Amino acid sequence: MSSSWRPATQLVHGGTTRSNHGETSEAIFLTQGFVYENSAAAEARFKGETDGFIYARYGSPTNDMFEKRMCLLEGAEDARATASGMAAVSAAILCQVKAGDHIVAARALFGSCRWVVETLAPKYGVECTLVDGRDIANWEAAVRPNTKVFFLESPTNPTLEVVDVAAVAALANSIGAKLVVDNVFATPLFQKPLELGAHVVVYSATKHIDGQGRCLGGVVLSSKEWIDENLHDYFRHTGPALSPFNAWTLLKGIETLPLRVRQQTANASAVADLLAGHSKVAKVIYPGRADHPQADIIAKQMSGGSTLVAFEMKGGKQAAFALQDALEIVKISNNLGDSKSLITHPATTTHKNLSDEARAELGISDGTVRLSAGIEDAEDLVADFARALDAVQA
Ligand SMILES: *Cc1c(COP(=O)(O)O)cnc(C)c1O
Repeated sequence: MSSSWRPATQLVHGGTTRSNHGETSEAIFLTQGFVYENSAAAEARFKGETDGFIYARYGSPTNDMFEKRMCLLEGAEDARATASGMAAVSAAILCQVKAGDHIVAARALFGSCRWVVETLAPKYGVECTLVDGRDIANWEAAVRPNTKVFFLESPTNPTLEVVDVAAVAALANSIGAKLVVDNVFATPLFQKPLELGAHVVVYSATKHIDGQGRCLGGVVLSSKEWIDENLHDYFRHTGPALSPFNAWTLLKGIETLPLRVRQQTANASAVADLLAGHSKVAKVIYPGRADHPQADIIAKQMSGGSTLVAFEMKGGKQAAFALQDALEIVKISNNLGDSKSLITHPATTTHKNLSDEARAELGISDGTVRLSAGIEDAEDLVADFARALDAVQA
């Protein structure tokens, strides 16, 4: 039974449906529409009396394979594939709120996620409170009678703090709210939000799921009941559907997800160990190290470290820039989860729009640097960092 297969098997075989040609690799169905045998067949399809596709904005065969494979991996009953991670996040949140509702979100969010809850939702009469998500007491204190949605990322971008997902899920259940978890940084392999009690999981498939820098994509996963009641109509009528070509690219990408994430994590861990002992580095935050400030929560809810490392250079922006510019293998880019190692300086790129105070609250200083480890040889990466650190003037 495919539902009992372990992840590496599901990611190669799960959800596959073959056409009458029996192709080995999943087929790309680049079609907008579908034809019906006769008028009665069209009527029955529209009435929902027969299974089958109607229009590619609603669903299509390649996207369906991607959604089914993601459901098997995540342990979810149903999913919708979207054109980007932000399409997934905005759909997952906006489809379930109305004017007068209230959202509580952890303030350490990917920039566009923060804009959706902090700036967009209030325009439609949905209020939002941002909290330091590390302490459950802050979530409790922010709850109002009209709180409907909790939203968090764990580990967070870029400082790799974690939130106790089970504790926030229990609080959500106690007040009848739904918890949405953006699980990009943990990857579907290292953290299972639905098992921890979350109601909805979202991914930017652009990151580790494609993992080779090719296309944007996203996915929302939940129970069949939640999708039917909240996302189904929203998704059909607002049109965030993923392109079938990109669904195919993502399907091929996730076949190798466990291989890539394993190598990326080993590489991240090796670089974190080098950085942790280095005189030019003030601080390293890596979820796989025993010195992570929340190692106890990590042990409870994650089955692996991380493909990302956050660290702080002594000497601030100048030292951070000097390090980045001296690296040869590691490329300067704000993306993450790629097979190529990528490094970014959040204060001047991904988090430049935040106020100085908001950045300080998130623990982002001028010396903070975020590495997304690729799948290169670990010794080459460690050597690249050792050489680049030597080049930084103390
Ligand atoms: C990249 C990212 C997103 C947005 O995904 P896109 O595919 O770029 O739209 C959302 N959340 C997190 C945590 C991300 O890293």
